[in-house]
Amino acid sequence: MTGSFNLAPLPFGDAALEPAISSRTLSFHYYKHHQAYVDTLNALVEKTKFADMKLEKIIQATVKPVDEKERKIFDNAAQVWNHDFYWRSLSPAKTKPSGDLASAIARDFGSTASLIAQLAEAGKNQFGSGWAWLVSKYGKLSVEKTSNAMTPMAKAINCLLAIDVWEHAYYLDYQNARPKYLEAVLANILNWDHAAENLLRENEAVRAAAE
Ligand code: MN
Repeated sequence: MTGSFNLAPLPFGDAALEPAISSRTLSFHYYKHHQAYVDTLNALVEKTKFADMKLEKIIQATVKPVDEKERKIFDNAAQVWNHDFYWRSLSPAKTKPSGDLASAIARDFGSTASLIAQLAEAGKNQFGSGWAWLVSKYGKLSVEKTSNAMTPMAKAINCLLAIDVWEHAYYLDYQNARPKYLEAVLANILNWDHAAENLLRENEAVRAAAE
C-alpha cells in the first residue's frame, strides 16, 4: 500500500556490518521487520488526524495513548523512528568519539570503555524486547534502556545512539547469546560520528537559545 511514511534507505549495504551482524539478519530485520512497522503505521494513520503529522510529532502525541488504536500507532511509529535511528547508529567504518562528544564521555563516564560497559549491561539487563540508548539529558550523557517500542525521544530526550535488543536483531547470528551480539556491535560497528552529530545539534540549539 502507499502511505505518507516510507522505509528510509539503509546507509550501507546488506553485508556491510558482517561479521558483527550478518547480511541474513540485516535483510530480515530491515526488509521484513522495519518495513512491516512502516506499512502498519501507514494503514493505522490513514484518514486520522495523524495522517499528515511528522513522525516525531505522532510519537510524542501518542506516548500516553487514549485507546487501543493510539497504542498501536505509538508502537509502530516509535519502531519506525527507532529503526531509522538504529541503522544510523551503526557503521561499517571504524569511528571513534571526537570533539564535544569525546569530552562529554570523559566527563560523564570517565572513559569510552566505561560507557561501552554500561551500554552492554543495559542491553543485557533489558528484560524482554527493547532498546539500549546513549542519551543526552539536561546537559549530561547517560545510558538508558526501554521496553518494546518505547523511546527516549518520545519525552523529547536527545538520543545519541540506539542498540536494538529485540531477539530479531540477533537470534539468527547469536541465538540466545544477547551479550555476544552486544559485544560485537559495541566493539566494532558503533557509529560515533552519528552520536557526535546528535550532540552537536543539541549544543548548537542551546547556544542559539542563549544568544
Ligand atoms: Mn528491530
